[in-house]
Amino acid sequence: MPGFARRLDNVLPSATIAVKEEADRLKREGVDVIDFGPGEPDFNTPENIKEAARAAVARNLSHYLPTLGLPELREAIAADYRRKHGTDYAPSEVLVSCGGKNALFAAAMALFDHGDEVIIPAPFWVSFPEQVRLAGGVPVILETTEEAGFIPRAKDAEKLITPATRGIILCSPSNPTGAVIPDDELSRWADLALERDLYVIFDECYERFLYDGRSHASMAVHAARLRDRLVLASTFSKSYAMTGYRIGFALADRRVVSAMATVQSHDATHASSIVQAAALEAVKGPQDDLTRMVSEYARRRAIMVNGLRSIPGITCLMPGGAFYAFPGVAGLYERLGVSDSFGVAKALLEKARIAVVPGEAFGINGYVRFSYALATERIETGIARLREALG
Ligand code: PLP
Repeated sequence: MPGFARRLDNVLPSATIAVKEEADRLKREGVDVIDFGPGEPDFNTPENIKEAARAAVARNLSHYLPTLGLPELREAIAADYRRKHGTDYAPSEVLVSCGGKNALFAAAMALFDHGDEVIIPAPFWVSFPEQVRLAGGVPVILETTEEAGFIPRAKDAEKLITPATRGIILCSPSNPTGAVIPDDELSRWADLALERDLYVIFDECYERFLYDGRSHASMAVHAARLRDRLVLASTFSKSYAMTGYRIGFALADRRVVSAMATVQSHDATHASSIVQAAALEAVKGPQDDLTRMVSEYARRRAIMVNGLRSIPGITCLMPGGAFYAFPGVAGLYERLGVSDSFGVAKALLEKARIAVVPGEAFGINGYVRFSYALATERIETGIARLREALG
């Protein structure tokens, strides 16, 4: 068999896979595993959005669209950003993509060259470093700590900058920590990008999932001064419970968007026409389902985090956004006879029949990720099992 492309040499398949496979095996055997693993809403897609998809099928919206996406959808997204953040992106500066992931991938392919260094704060979303590697670039990890609320600070990134540094990837609210980067820190990152001539990719896929009265701090407010070096990426997946529809988008300067569109034109071509019609309804239609879902997540967050905090050996910050808790579990190593978070995840699956994602997947040891996109009773049962298993 001929070998594989060298570009895959350093690209890791998801580090979550081993625990997930074992969890799936147990589930197939009929074991009731409480799965805190998946990063997706457990809600169904709102009815008005499903209806828009059905209507698009009925009216034969079945031909190729422009690579950038359905013009009405791009208009609606540009208008939504103008209203929320005062940006002046034109519809031709919006790229509709097959999920937020594809927009981020197109950005990495379009902006990063062989040997380019890209600063990524850890804990990071699993695909950031791998997308940079697939583009030939080199991820440079900026560690953040629980003590600092997992907030990446621009001043800490300065020492990582070399002549090869080309970009920064920020995510807020963060998967996996739920940390929300405050406005003033975003402003410092924007200053740094300007001073050091860097691209900023800002992933705001969890922009709607904010708690305790927070409002979303977006890098979009710095779009005017970062105009030619900013990519804002987001998705319908989480906000509208549309993960399987595969639809997301990015906004960026015309030149950057056309470079990204060149990548997409040779890859997916564009996101499904039917799904784009559904997404148009998501942006323009009533937002009550979204509000309802977010208040339910807020309730679950409290149950999840308070439950975790009640267990000796576990520390847990109250996440400001997204739908994940990211507790410190190093205090459990001795009790579980393990030496890393991967070991904790394995032990919790064996002893408590709960599945979590080990911190190693996100570039940090000593933590595991619990998604609270689960029914409240399941969260409560999971916590009870955890308490029991840990004695
Ligand atoms: N960015 C972050 C931080 C995510 O957590 C995810 C999904 O888990 C994505 C992007 C991609 O979302 P999707 O491609 O499903 O729209």
